[in-house]
Amino acid sequence: MKTIALDLGGTRIKIGVIEGTAILASSMIEAFSTNGLRARLASIEEAVFELLRSYRIPLNDIAGIGISVPGIVDPRQKTVLSVNQKYFDSVGFDFRGWAHEKFGLPIYLENDARAALVGEWKYGAGQGCDNLVMVTLGTGVGGAAIIEGKLLHGKHHQAGCLGGHFTINFVGQLCNCGNIGCVETEASSWSLPQQAMSDAGFPASLLSKNGTIDYERLFAAARRNDALADKLVHNSLLAWGSCVVNLIHAYDPETVIIGGGIMRSADIILPFIRKYVDSLAWTPWGKVSIVSARDMDTAALFGIAELLRESLK
Ligand SMILES: [Zn+2]
Repeated sequence: MKTIALDLGGTRIKIGVIEGTAILASSMIEAFSTNGLRARLASIEEAVFELLRSYRIPLNDIAGIGISVPGIVDPRQKTVLSVNQKYFDSVGFDFRGWAHEKFGLPIYLENDARAALVGEWKYGAGQGCDNLVMVTLGTGVGGAAIIEGKLLHGKHHQAGCLGGHFTINFVGQLCNCGNIGCVETEASSWSLPQQAMSDAGFPASLLSKNGTIDYERLFAAARRNDALADKLVHNSLLAWGSCVVNLIHAYDPETVIIGGGIMRSADIILPFIRKYVDSLAWTPWGKVSIVSARDMDTAALFGIAELLRESLK
C-alpha cells in the first residue's frame, strides 16, 4: 500500500511517498509556519503533485494521506484543537475536506511527536519495546508516550504530549502556553536568545557577536570555554534531565527516545541525561534506557504512514 506522508514542521514541511519500510520519493518545502497553514496549502498541493509526477507515481496508486502537525490533535475528528504559535490557523481547519477535494483521498491526522514516536517504535530506536517515551528537543520541546503497546491520547487528546510544559521552575518565566517555568521556557530554541541576551554576561560572550543565537552556536561557544555559553548549556542539560525524570515518573517507560534538531549535539546531551536519570529517577525495577532517535528526519513520516495504514484496515 502506497501512502503520502506530510510532516508539517515549524521550519520545514516534509513530503514522502511511503510503501512499507521504504520511502519511494520525498521532498521538502519551507514551512513559514508563523504565517499560518492556509497560506501554505497551494504550495503543499503543488509539491505533492510535483513529487508524484517526477517519480511517475500515479495518484490512483495512493491509498491516503497521513498528516503530522505540531499541536493538540483529535485524530478521531481529524482536527487540530490547539496550537502554540506554529500554524495558528490550523485549529478547526477541515483537513479531511481539503484532502478529499484536492486529492480525492482519506486522511489520518496526528500530533508530530506522537507520529515520530510511532515511527521510532515500528522502525527505529524503539523496536521491540512497548513502553516508550519520546522527547523532541527543538524550537519547542515535544513529547509522546506509549504504555503497554498503546499510544497514549487521553480524554482531551493531550495525554503524553505536554512534557515540554512540565513545570520545572516554579519561580521561572512565563511560557507562551500560559504556564510558568516550563521545560520550554528554561531550555528550547525559542527561549534561548532571550535567556542569553538578558544575562549580565552577554556583552562579553561570543554569543553577542552577529548571528542567530541557537543551540548549534551555543554548544560551539561552550567548547571554546565561553562563560555564558557554558552556563546556559549546563542550565539546559539540567532542564532536559528534569524533564526526562518527570516523564519517567509519569509514564513508567523502559526506554526514553530523544530526538529533535538539538540532538545534533547528542554526544554532550545523552551522557549527561543518562547520568542524571541514573542518579535521580525512582526506578526500583532497574535502569531506564536513554537513546537517540534513529532517524528524526523521517520518523514522523514513517509513523504517520503507519497510523494511516492502521486506520484504513
Ligand atoms: Zn509552557
